[in-house]
Amino acid sequence: MNATVPRVRHRPVPPAAAGRGALWIFVLVNLVIVEALFLTAGTGKNGVLTVAKFVGLHAAVLMLFQLLLVARLPWLDRRIGMDRLTVWHRWAGFTLLWTILTHAVLVVLGYALLDGAPMVKTFFALAGVPASLLGICAATIVVVVAAVSARSVRRRLRYETWHGVHLLLYLALGLAFVHQLLETTTFSSSVFATAYWWVLWLFAFGALVAGRIVLPLWRNAYHRFRVSAVVPEAEDVVSVYVTGRRLDRFPARAGQFCIWRFPGHNRWWLANPFSLSAAPDGRSLRLTAKAAGTASAGLRHVPVGSRVFVEGPYGAFTSVHRTRPGALLIAGGVGITPIRALLEEEPAGDVVVLHRVRGEADAVLADEVRTLVADRGGRLHLLTGRTSEGATPFAPDALRALVPDIAERDVYVCGPPAMTSAVLAALRELDVPARRVHSERFGLA
Ligand SMILES: Cc1cc2nc3c(=O)[nH]c(=O)nc-3n(C[C@H](O)[C@H](O)[C@H](O)COP(=O)(O)OP(=O)(O)OC[C@H]3O[C@@H](n4cnc5c(N)ncnc54)[C@H](O)[C@@H]3O)c2cc1C
Repeated sequence: MNATVPRVRHRPVPPAAAGRGALWIFVLVNLVIVEALFLTAGTGKNGVLTVAKFVGLHAAVLMLFQLLLVARLPWLDRRIGMDRLTVWHRWAGFTLLWTILTHAVLVVLGYALLDGAPMVKTFFALAGVPASLLGICAATIVVVVAAVSARSVRRRLRYETWHGVHLLLYLALGLAFVHQLLETTTFSSSVFATAYWWVLWLFAFGALVAGRIVLPLWRNAYHRFRVSAVVPEAEDVVSVYVTGRRLDRFPARAGQFCIWRFPGHNRWWLANPFSLSAAPDGRSLRLTAKAAGTASAGLRHVPVGSRVFVEGPYGAFTSVHRTRPGALLIAGGVGITPIRALLEEEPAGDVVVLHRVRGEADAVLADEVRTLVADRGGRLHLLTGRTSEGATPFAPDALRALVPDIAERDVYVCGPPAMTSAVLAALRELDVPARRVHSERFGLA
């Protein structure tokens, strides 16, 4: 077992703050440059078109910022975490939608005023101009993606359907790029403007290609991951062990997750996120999956020896963000998997684990967790029952009763989205400082 002392590091700049700081700098520097470009060459053919251009330039920056948020760059991901980046991506996405729509309406209005024509007629006239047509197509795709991402629609769609529609955004980006290139006023108003936009687009696309394609392909070619064992843990839970070449160089930490493809089991385009359920020891990786649908249920039939394509490791749910010696680890159901891995890094003494399950039989990896907690002289509370039947162990008072010094600890929370949100709300009520709260939701989108 890889029992190392947790790194309670007091860095001058905590990792999450460094990640957020880098993103703020990216946004602010680009806003300053874009305002300067607008002030020097932003005038349109009338006042409305000038405002349209102003809004359009900001839409372009926002679009490229979006790429950075989803590029899965290890530096950012380890500091901020994919779930938080995804939430920001969602908010930035809806802001982008309104920015693009405002830009489009202002362009049509501006030309309608210029030509003294009705807006509908102007719209169709603009659709006949290649640069505008590309912009209209890009905007239409953004509207469609935003529509399927609205919570009420998203809830009704299969993950794969939603994800497939979402991928159209890459087409929208390509169209928006050519739209901006053909709209020569932004790209070629000066040598500096040309150089700036090329560098910005190449940087954002480069980050995306590096993080999403090059790095995973390189890591898989290097490590050549294969299934080494499949161990049923319960009727609906299975652990899959994966080995590979030089796994000591695979930069995973306890608490992180990977996105796994099992080409012999699933179709190659299907990938599922699963946390590492044991701290990586340089020889093998382990995931533990509860049957939720076809892919997770079928994992118990994956043949030993079959190839695995692994993307990651991802996530900021690690001891890198630890600030206090004492820890409270809270898991809901199968959310125990990264908690189980984190436990391996706990030193003796000050750890409390709360595991919420329907009944004792549902406690995944129960024996391992019990042993790890006992080895560290910690406390484990198996919290059984259903919320609908009145069992609310994560209500603020109940949490305080279980762990009176909760505000003095780092709190790690992992479970289904609803449970995680409920615990986070309770922690806020209990005045646990945000920097000591670390969470992972088993649901990204
Ligand atoms: C960061 C993270 C870590 C996770 N770790 C674990 C773990 O250690 N053990 C475990 O049992 N479960 C874990 N899950 C949940 C697990 O990913 C889903 O249960 C699994 O993907 C279901 O896939 P399916 O095809 O079997 O079922 P489906 O019926 O296809 O999916 C059921 C639900 O799972 C979610 N889901 C499916 N595919 C994806 C995907 N590619 N990305 C995001 N969500 C998806 C969707 O919300 C979907 O509605 C984790 C989820 C996340 C986001």
